[in-house]
Amino acid sequence: MTDKKFPDKAQYVIVGGGVVGCSVAYHLAKMGHTDIVLLEQGQLSCGTTWHAAGLVGQLRGQPAMTNLIRYSTQLYSDLEAETGLATGWMQCGSVTVARTDDRMTMLLRTAAAARAQGVEVDVITAAEAQEKWPVMQVDDVKGGLWMPGDGKANPTDLTQSLAKGARMRGANVIEGVTVTDILTDSGRVTGVVTDQGTIEADYVINCGGQWARKLGLMCGVNVPLHSAEHMYIVTEKVEGVNPDLPVLRDPDGYIYFKEETGGLVMGGFEPEAKPWGMDGIPEKFEFSLLPDDWDQFEILLENALIRVPQMETTGVRKFYNGPESFTPDNNYLLGEAPELKNFFVGAGFNSMGIASAGGAGRALAEWIVAGEPTSDLFAVDIRRFANFNNNPTWLHDRVKETLGLHYAMPWPNRELDSARPFRRSALYDRLSAKNAVFGSKMGWERVNWFARDGEKAETVYSFGRQNWHDAVGEEHKAVREDVAVFDQSSFSKLMVQGRDACRELNRICAANIDVEVGKTVYTGLLNVRGGYESDLTVLRVKKQEFLLITGSAQTVHDADWIRKNFTDDAHVFLTDVTSSWSVLAVMGPKSRDVLKKLTKSDLSNAAFPFSTVREIDLGYATVLANRMTYVGELGWELLVPVEFTIGVYEDLMNAGAEFGIRNAGYFALEGLRIEKGFRAWTRELTPDITPLQAGLGFAVDWDKAGGFIGKEALLAARADPDHLKTRIVQLVLDDAAPQLWGGEAVLRNGVEVGEVRSAAYGHTLGAAVTLCQLEADEPIKADYLKSGEFEIDLAGVRFSAQVHLRTPYDPKGERAKVDG
Ligand SMILES: Cc1cc2nc3c(=O)[nH]c(=O)nc-3n(C[C@H](O)[C@H](O)[C@H](O)COP(=O)(O)OP(=O)(O)OC[C@H]3O[C@@H](n4cnc5c(N)ncnc54)[C@H](O)[C@@H]3O)c2cc1C
Repeated sequence: MTDKKFPDKAQYVIVGGGVVGCSVAYHLAKMGHTDIVLLEQGQLSCGTTWHAAGLVGQLRGQPAMTNLIRYSTQLYSDLEAETGLATGWMQCGSVTVARTDDRMTMLLRTAAAARAQGVEVDVITAAEAQEKWPVMQVDDVKGGLWMPGDGKANPTDLTQSLAKGARMRGANVIEGVTVTDILTDSGRVTGVVTDQGTIEADYVINCGGQWARKLGLMCGVNVPLHSAEHMYIVTEKVEGVNPDLPVLRDPDGYIYFKEETGGLVMGGFEPEAKPWGMDGIPEKFEFSLLPDDWDQFEILLENALIRVPQMETTGVRKFYNGPESFTPDNNYLLGEAPELKNFFVGAGFNSMGIASAGGAGRALAEWIVAGEPTSDLFAVDIRRFANFNNNPTWLHDRVKETLGLHYAMPWPNRELDSARPFRRSALYDRLSAKNAVFGSKMGWERVNWFARDGEKAETVYSFGRQNWHDAVGEEHKAVREDVAVFDQSSFSKLMVQGRDACRELNRICAANIDVEVGKTVYTGLLNVRGGYESDLTVLRVKKQEFLLITGSAQTVHDADWIRKNFTDDAHVFLTDVTSSWSVLAVMGPKSRDVLKKLTKSDLSNAAFPFSTVREIDLGYATVLANRMTYVGELGWELLVPVEFTIGVYEDLMNAGAEFGIRNAGYFALEGLRIEKGFRAWTRELTPDITPLQAGLGFAVDWDKAGGFIGKEALLAARADPDHLKTRIVQLVLDDAAPQLWGGEAVLRNGVEVGEVRSAAYGHTLGAAVTLCQLEADEPIKADYLKSGEFEIDLAGVRFSAQVHLRTPYDPKGERAKVDG
């Protein structure tokens, strides 16, 4: 405790004095928001932070996370000059080695992606790796990467330095105070109760590390994380190890090394982790560790001895076993809780909190002040999870797998295996019986592809064509030439109703949704910067009732965005009705023929044009039929009350038999939509991309009464030719053979100009098809595209590609509208 009077009021109360809480305090203060109280139940850094190994590696699976860590490295090197307290930052670089050809391919892909993000990286041979890290043996090493910008920091010193930077600007950092309750009023946080008194607050920021879930439950907020044991050892001195030694990562052996006082810190990420804290996290856990567990550590030690044989004869000075919190997808949790206004979370750092704290702290501080994220942060946005993700039994089973993901092979289309099946559609059993291979999105089991007779219903991962290539080719062909059914029940469905529903939604949507009842409108939801917060379809089912169909992963995010943007006293209500409706998409030129056999409704173009929705009879069922397509063919998305799903599905398959109807899955859907050039949210459409850059200006109503969120920014962008220096375009490879997965670098005349955001094999065009984000020095217009030679770098090999602003498949978009 300080000798200051205990505060009873503050604008910002931060709970938790680990590296993350201190970083948030520092950045809020640096932004001039200094009425801050930070509360720590023990001493600063006493939770998880103090025993971290301190590795700061920049490369992460998500570009947004990489960017945040790049900022961290800058901050950690500059902070001492500002605060006078060292952070222990040392830019020693890092070496990552590969034991297998697949891992080397992965490193080459990573290097190309890193360069596209401006991270310095060199591909090196095994001998060069050994030169940089002489104590390792490299007989089994295929090659590696050298990242000179990586480094290490001292977690405790860093935390103290951040806290000092916050204090210097006026923040009140108080140790030895436990928050025992969170106060709320009318859906908004109003303060905290502590063991030393109550503090009123405008904002409360939960940086409670592995205690963050419990803090969330105090106020009805879901913070889905679970602790797992995480271990490393520190050895006695090792010959040849000196303080300048880079960090070494050997992901095929699950291990990392760094120098410490002439010895080695060796730890890792074993494939099956050991969850901890099932009966709750003890309140008193200051500077505490868990018992040594050499059995759990064995797999890491065995691999370490392969890499550094000298360790066989080196003593161990200390075994560190500390609990750390892990999330269901190994990305952390950031942002305002959708359940409670002004209650923010920065937790669940999955053993990368030291590396991430600088950038994540700044991002969270900016989010708090701006009221929305200031860049694309969906990968870490707490709204990617729902209440069911906070189920403790599910979390326990899931974190066994997530810890190991750090070093697991990030295969294209890799699915997590644990804690499944979780959410199942009404057709799950029927589709399983048809050899469906499921993936998982927002907890839903969704069919990726259907194995054919004689094929094993299991995805075999590789960087080249995977074992489902031909089976998906047949599904793709059925959609283009005949008809197929997709179970898209996982789509999020949000009902917006009320006297003011039309006015309110029209301000939130960029397109005009004030249309006749029975019309469907495709629209973006934009932020004030004109970037995409979502893209979805709005079905006007009644005058004051709109059904919004949006991506499976976006339920909580979109509902939160829309609700937050409703005017306070408006008569408008949003309900998540996802679980009430199944969605069966009947797609392909013969879809009308199939449906005609089952309904008395008129499905002709005149009676049921593209972009309209009608209630129709279908067999014994009554369904909402939406004439829309995500594959570029004639088709209807049937919204079916869940209890009618099996009946409708059976009717469709029986009626469709004579037209060759078949089941199709999400892998086919992905190829079909990319071939057609349809953009997807989080891939091509992000909070940093506008409709103009995405080529979706047609879905903006510039003239509607009342305007829309983001209009001012878009108008300014439209008048600025430089705005189109960033653009989404389609690239199709010339060579039919290579398989692309996304993340590859794009080159124009030999110079990197962007990255592949989505890729799949286009079975109709007969080559890999992609949607790419280009960043150029000049506006990207037809001349720029025509005058350049485009290539895509696939793990170090370049392939020529043709660039298109409009898809070469059905460039006028006629196929979806034709009367079959
Ligand atoms: C063995 C090990 C090695 C690691 N190595 C690395 C590494 O090399 N690189 C890396 O980037 N990361 C590493 N990490 C991860 C890193 O340590 C964490 O991600 C990071 O410390 C998390 O910081 P935090 O601030 O979120 O949590 P914490 O440091 O746990 O801070 C949360 C604080 O909240 C306080 N608190 C909780 N509840 C209350 C309450 N009710 N009232 C008041 N205060 C409360 C706690 O006392 C605690 O101090 C490692 C972790 C482990 C376990």
